[in-house]
Amino acid sequence: MNFRSPIVALGAACLFASGCRHEEPRPKADNVTPKAVKLPAGDTAPLGLIVITVDTLRADYLSSYGHARILTPSFDRLASGGILFKQAISQASTTTPSHASIMTSLYLQDHNVYTNFEAVGDAARTLAEVMAGRGFNTFGIVNMNHLNPEVSNLGQGFETFVKSGNMRRAGPTVDKTLEWLDKNGEQPFFAWIHFTDVHTPYNPPPPYDRFYYDDDERDPAKRSLAKIWHLLPSHMTDHPFFQRWLEGITDSEWVMAQYQGAVTYVDDEFGRLLDRLEQMGLLERTAIVLTADHGESLGEHDIYYTHTGLYEPTIHVPLITYFPGAGRQGVQVRDVVESVDIMPTVLEYFDIPVPKGAHGRSLWPLIRGEVQPERVALSEHAGRNLVVLRTDRYKYIKQLRTVHLQPSYPWVEGREELYDLKADPLERRDLARDQNEVMRVFRKELDRRRGDRLNLQVGAAELTDETVEVLRAMGYVR
Ligand SMILES: [Zn+2]
Repeated sequence: MNFRSPIVALGAACLFASGCRHEEPRPKADNVTPKAVKLPAGDTAPLGLIVITVDTLRADYLSSYGHARILTPSFDRLASGGILFKQAISQASTTTPSHASIMTSLYLQDHNVYTNFEAVGDAARTLAEVMAGRGFNTFGIVNMNHLNPEVSNLGQGFETFVKSGNMRRAGPTVDKTLEWLDKNGEQPFFAWIHFTDVHTPYNPPPPYDRFYYDDDERDPAKRSLAKIWHLLPSHMTDHPFFQRWLEGITDSEWVMAQYQGAVTYVDDEFGRLLDRLEQMGLLERTAIVLTADHGESLGEHDIYYTHTGLYEPTIHVPLITYFPGAGRQGVQVRDVVESVDIMPTVLEYFDIPVPKGAHGRSLWPLIRGEVQPERVALSEHAGRNLVVLRTDRYKYIKQLRTVHLQPSYPWVEGREELYDLKADPLERRDLARDQNEVMRVFRKELDRRRGDRLNLQVGAAELTDETVEVLRAMGYVR
């Protein structure tokens, strides 16, 4: 990685990096008092690994990431015993492409999975394959049809794989995981758990549906949802699935509160998993990684209830790592990191070599508190529509195709955007025409990254009519 040289040439020490250590003591959220995860006193060998992907969970909706209202005591509990990465960037804003990157440590331009209708090729070595090859029992559970093995090919390496059960909730997902752990938790194991509760239709069970809302969501006097209806993509609003969800609803605040309630619901179910691991004596021998495949736009840039685009709400994801017996706890790291870094990091913990070709970097130097070179995250939009380079300070977006998918954000081939995230965290002031030198550096960096691609062959996805219909209902177009 040689992306510091252009910065030096520019003489702009703070273009990508501040050059300083990106680390802060972790502030306590006002509204929660997380119980710390206890770390082992001795040198108990690590036994298990659990990777949790909460579909569509944006980072800033966790209290440990600074949200003032939403309660996430269990996620915060994990952060109190581990490391919270404040600027984790997902490789895509779409489910299968992003999960493919998490599980293979490859960028989209390497594995070439650009939609939820495609499968990872067999040439890409997955985390589960590597762990299984080292004798770990492997278990996966997913809750979207397009993550099922026959569609995504992400079942590679899992000896037990519980397929999607039509948007199964977090509760039964945790039950099934615990059932498996009860039988297999004595031996080395790797479990991947995928939760889907915070994806549309946001539909948390009681009491979470009323947790953040106590008004009348059907009050005809309220007009807030009607006012934004034209901003929702027609492939969503025209679908009966979406219409049924919002039938009779007038208040957009209710929709927001359903997302928020779903976050707290998943957090509570994750807490149940933590408690059970503790009871089983596994918590102190199990590494845990909590992340999301992408976030969600909840009105930013007039994009509502979807993850179209690559603005911060859609690609800034939570990443909390917990490695028992391995050093510091309760620390926040502010360096930019990426989903592709997860695989090399967990493999290093278990002393397993990282497969050749993996593009992520181990997070261990950051976990140990070492100063690391600034990195440039690379994210891409489904269908090869957009590409992003994201540093600590800047976001560079290049629109690659002319597409009018999102009413408020039409893309034009060749158009570029640039945001100074320090001065403009909400990405409202496009500097692409004002910052010629910065743009030049990003264009060069994008060329360099494109030259570095593996360009693997995708696998064969078996798509049933039902899967295609579910994808359509969720707002994905083919
Ligand atoms: Zn997703």
